[in-house]
Amino acid sequence: MENKEHAQSTVYKESIDTLMQQTQSSPDGLSSTQAKEKLERDGLNQLKEAPKKPTWKLFLETFKDAMVIVLLVVALIQMVMGDYIEFFVIFAVLMLNSVISVIQTKKAEGSLEALKNLSAPDAKVIRDGKEMTIPANELVVGDIVLLDAGDYVPADGRLLEAGSLKVDEGMLTGESTSAEKEVVEITQTVPIGDRLNMVFSGTIITYGRGKFLVTATGNNTEIGEVAGLLESTTEQVTPLQRGLDKFSKKLSLAILGLSLVILGIQLFRIYMGGGTGDMTADIVSAIMFAVAVAVAAIPEALQSIVTIVLSLGTNKMAKRHAIIRKLPAVETLGSTSIICTDKTGTLTQNKMTVVDYYLANGATGDFSNDPKNWSVDERRLIEISVLANDASISEDGSKLGDPTEVAFVDFSEKMNQPYREIRQTYPRQAELPFDSDRKLMSTAHEIDNQQFLFVKGGPDIVFGRSTKALVNGEVVPMTDELRKKFQEQNEAFSKRALRVLAFAYRPINSLELSFDDEDDLILVGIMAMIDPPRDEVTQAVKEAKSAGIKTIMITGDHKTTAVAIAKEIGIFAEGDQALTGTELDELSEDQLNEVLEKVTVYARVSPENKIRIVRAWQTKGHISAMTGDGVNDAPALKQADIGIAMGTGTDVAKDAAAMVLTDDNFASIVSAVEVGRNVFDNIKKAISYLFSGNLGAIIAIIFALVADWSNPFTALQLLFINLVNDSLPAIALGTEKAEPATMKRPPRDPNSGIFTDKTLISVTYRGVLIGIAVIFAQWLGMQHSAEFGVAMSFTTLIWCRTLQTFPARSNTQTAIQAGFFSNRSVLLAVAVCSALYCIAMIPGLKEVFSIPAAFGLTEVFTCIGIALVTVVLMEITKMILVRVQGNK
Ligand code: ATP
Repeated sequence: MENKEHAQSTVYKESIDTLMQQTQSSPDGLSSTQAKEKLERDGLNQLKEAPKKPTWKLFLETFKDAMVIVLLVVALIQMVMGDYIEFFVIFAVLMLNSVISVIQTKKAEGSLEALKNLSAPDAKVIRDGKEMTIPANELVVGDIVLLDAGDYVPADGRLLEAGSLKVDEGMLTGESTSAEKEVVEITQTVPIGDRLNMVFSGTIITYGRGKFLVTATGNNTEIGEVAGLLESTTEQVTPLQRGLDKFSKKLSLAILGLSLVILGIQLFRIYMGGGTGDMTADIVSAIMFAVAVAVAAIPEALQSIVTIVLSLGTNKMAKRHAIIRKLPAVETLGSTSIICTDKTGTLTQNKMTVVDYYLANGATGDFSNDPKNWSVDERRLIEISVLANDASISEDGSKLGDPTEVAFVDFSEKMNQPYREIRQTYPRQAELPFDSDRKLMSTAHEIDNQQFLFVKGGPDIVFGRSTKALVNGEVVPMTDELRKKFQEQNEAFSKRALRVLAFAYRPINSLELSFDDEDDLILVGIMAMIDPPRDEVTQAVKEAKSAGIKTIMITGDHKTTAVAIAKEIGIFAEGDQALTGTELDELSEDQLNEVLEKVTVYARVSPENKIRIVRAWQTKGHISAMTGDGVNDAPALKQADIGIAMGTGTDVAKDAAAMVLTDDNFASIVSAVEVGRNVFDNIKKAISYLFSGNLGAIIAIIFALVADWSNPFTALQLLFINLVNDSLPAIALGTEKAEPATMKRPPRDPNSGIFTDKTLISVTYRGVLIGIAVIFAQWLGMQHSAEFGVAMSFTTLIWCRTLQTFPARSNTQTAIQAGFFSNRSVLLAVAVCSALYCIAMIPGLKEVFSIPAAFGLTEVFTCIGIALVTVVLMEITKMILVRVQGNK
């Protein structure tokens, strides 16, 4: 069947057999070869994106800059006046500048694109008769796809199975309530909202499970028809970028003002007869100089440098298992002071093993591994545990499904009772899927012509709903004594940090299940599982603590189990408190605020509780990260400053999150915080480097103006310095490794911005040093001639700025302490800058850069010497400051 045929779909009216035939599919799905062929024929399952701006357009756009236009015009005038070489060199410098800026933009774009691909959704399909996970964009017509609560439906298709399936189709139909889906026949023509046997791409599974046959992909889906071309939405601006943008606009205006003043003074001098005699040439060169000052001093590379450093950071985080979905998160991570984390799977290994059990008749301890010896109660316990259960073990031994459920399937097998046998004997007739609000899961089965509901779930919930118990094969009324015994046993298991689930059942009269059926239960027993903490978690909690970050456990599990584990890994200390969701509900805002700082464990929480906890911390001015994986966690993930979804979590959670953990590991959050802090530091270093260099040049220019010396640089020299020193070293600084104390200092105040007083002082100090060095060099050169003065200041500025890359590498260490060769990018950037200077010194080009022929190696080395003294002074000051202020 052609993919296109289904655009105007009548798929909902066809019989499933016909559809299977048309799509060449079967209940075992497509074969991999078929899928591959179809993918090649129909293309990827994604909405077509609007074409990106072509490179030539990006290149041309760099000439839209007003400064560049003025510069070009002035250069043109110069050419008309016969100054060809100068014109060509300016032109070449501008072209090079544009090329570099295009490369930067492309690089930034590329890394954002890579970011998007990293967080692309997956789909669970059946191919070659096997369940597998593939990237959702590789789905083809004929694939059979499995759906769970929290998934985005990845393509359009016809339902083959639906278990209490509810879908939010708001994006297609505008309906705000979830639509209930069923496997029914529809014969009449109905609108999309009434096609109950279909699911549509882009809609969200809010409840239940399902299986469907893909009938349309990519732009042939209903959403594809509506959406048309999808705008590429990779562009994301962070608060830092916004702040910097504002700042650089102001700065640019100030520099423009300064350039105008410089121009005014120079024109006045020419007017007073201070020029070379050729009035027009003098005016043109005065304008040229003023524009060059503006071009050189305005930090136009700032934006792309910040984007590049941010995206370098996201790459680094991805390597540490944290995929950033929203760029601002990189920055926010650096200010995070609270991490609210799930327990199961994030702090623990999520490898559960049943280690103990307890039955109403008091049986506990070792289970017989010969099913023949099982009592009626024991058999029923095992039956419920594998029937009210979606996990399975495939032929190759790999385990599929929720680890809690895998544990029971495993246990049954270990006790020599194949779980499949039980499932074949009592097939599932209906179900009420698990959700973390109810903390229950139930399925319906027929035993001896009577239908039963088998229920498993959180012990407290099941105890509360049980009115009877199974004791030695007899159903007896639940007594207070019996319930108390169960509660005590549950508590005892929980104190051993075990995760406990309870099992119950009841007869039912109809397969039309509702949540009311999960009441009036016959309690059978509880099973306890061990789920050991992850090895690296204790260390990560400690590291977070020393970085001023508080870790809080928020779990759906039982309070005692939660506290036991929290103690083991250092989250719960002496004097801390633990609250359950119910206890939290009873607290007023004020009461919560009062205890907030003390509570390190929240147990049996609902997703709504999570939002309240985050808000409470936010009102206290904290930046909080929060983990989540379920379909109901999305609002809490959005509310948190950094929502963190689990890689194994639902699509909805991932979509709401700013960051996704590919290994579900708490330690990866702490590691991402370190990268976040490092990125912010590096951006600060790059910007400080740029600004102090620019400041040094401006100080020298203003001084020369006031002292009535000739301009310390020619226009061309300034443009050249701008080209050489602006981007490469700054980007190289962006790759600097984390400072040793990165995780020993408190989180950054989110309102402080880049320019704290300390940074401003250091930028000014370094700028002034460079300025003085250049002025001194010019004075030294002027002892020979004015031209020598200019050549000296030009050379000194280039070398000061180039060598300044070393002190800019760290705020607390000298370049030698930080490992002189440890950042190769910095070495490379310095080498390129030095090489570019050498090129300018080649005879022929030398004249173009106004360097006298007699300006030789002695002069060059004098300038390098002056620059060296300057950077050594910077390093010495740093060491003194570190001594005085401590290693902060
Ligand atoms: P965390 O919130 O730290 O990830 P959790 O897995 O305990 O821990 P939920 O998945 O929300 O959190 O589960 C809440 C509770 O529901 C569990 O503590 C358990 O008592 C019960 N539960 C978990 N999984 C199942 C399941 N598959 N079937 C029935 N009950 C379950």
